[in-house]
Amino acid sequence: MQANLVAVAADNQPNLQATNEYAELKRQILALGLMKRQPGYYAAKFAITGGLLAIGLYALAYSGSDAWIRLAEAAFLAFVFVQIGLLAHDLSHQQIVGAGRWNVTAGLILGNLLMGVSRAWWRDNHDTHHAHPNDLAHDPNVNIIFLGCTAEQALSRPRWVQWVIRHQVALIVPIFCLEFFSMHYQSIVYAFHGKRGTVRGEHVVLLVHYALYGTLLYVTLGIGGGLIFALVHHLLTGLYMSRPAGRPDLRWAQLPDRASSVSDDAQKQLEPSSATRTRLLRGARHQLHRNRRSPIMA
Ligand SMILES: [Zn+2]
Repeated sequence: MQANLVAVAADNQPNLQATNEYAELKRQILALGLMKRQPGYYAAKFAITGGLLAIGLYALAYSGSDAWIRLAEAAFLAFVFVQIGLLAHDLSHQQIVGAGRWNVTAGLILGNLLMGVSRAWWRDNHDTHHAHPNDLAHDPNVNIIFLGCTAEQALSRPRWVQWVIRHQVALIVPIFCLEFFSMHYQSIVYAFHGKRGTVRGEHVVLLVHYALYGTLLYVTLGIGGGLIFALVHHLLTGLYMSRPAGRPDLRWAQLPDRASSVSDDAQKQLEPSSATRTRLLRGARHQLHRNRRSPIMA
């Protein structure tokens, strides 16, 4: 019995050490005041983002019918939407205001009304990610339908999805482009089922967003032009929210806290033998190393 306890204690030693290191790091960060709210920064960021949104909407309403100008407007509004999303992320982390009515109201405006993304869904999804980072069983950021993080995860997907996963490196850009559609879908399901954290009227504010967005595009571009604009705007927003793996030099926005594309211990992993190689995934053509650029997008 005592021997068992000693063995358990020895097993838990690394966890204990990691916890102590985390506590010490947190203490130092708090002591340096790095977790203090910065009202000046957020006031400026709100003003700039609001101004950019107004410019984008004004241009949408009053620019001509030139397709290239419309494309530029879609790209510009994709940029603005991601800035709104980053504000919503920080709000959810209580970096702008603490939990309470103001936080909920601002979340409904930034998330539901302006972006069509449920604040309650986002919060539940993102909190789960922070509680279980890179945990394949729980972290939603490593459970993306068209991306296989492990062979087992890939094999658990439908056959046609497995084809996509087999080509996920080549298809990474179009996969990322779908991110914003996925956020809308998950938001609608979450809000309409009144899941954890939803407030009264959460789904109504989402509907108001879609009604306003659709009306604005219909009035300015008609049905055909509006649908094309919405498609391009959503594809670009999803792409900008995500970040193509292996191209850190592009400095594109990243989904907040998305896991690194290459695991910390990638170099320590053993080369799979041909006997253990799965049926689904081909063997790696190149070994990936952290801190070294790889032609992963090629
Ligand atoms: Zn976060």
